[in-house]
Amino acid sequence: MDSPQPSQACPACQAPADAAAAFCSRCGKPLAPAGSPRAKWHQSVGFILVMIFFVLGPLALPLIVKNPRLSPRMRWVLVGITLLYTVVVIDAGRRMVSSMTAAFNSTLGL
Ligand SMILES: [Zn+2]
Repeated sequence: MDSPQPSQACPACQAPADAAAAFCSRCGKPLAPAGSPRAKWHQSVGFILVMIFFVLGPLALPLIVKNPRLSPRMRWVLVGITLLYTVVVIDAGRRMVSSMTAAFNSTLGL
């Protein structure tokens, strides 16, 4: 019972492949990490945080909610961070506009 057990098959040519292999030994195509806990780049917490703070803001919420790698507690933490950050950014923008309006009005002597 010590024959090597291939735990994945090449999606292109169906050749059995070693679980640790990243590419097919027969055709050279990349192997899908079928059912493995191997991290996908778009599911890492670091990537999600970058998307929240620098790119998407609250639009990053689907990345959190649909992420199978996050525990329910981690999802709630990230959703909370996203909503808090959104409120802070909106408030900062509102204050910036009102201070610019005040400066503009005082320049005009209003
Ligand atoms: Zn192949």
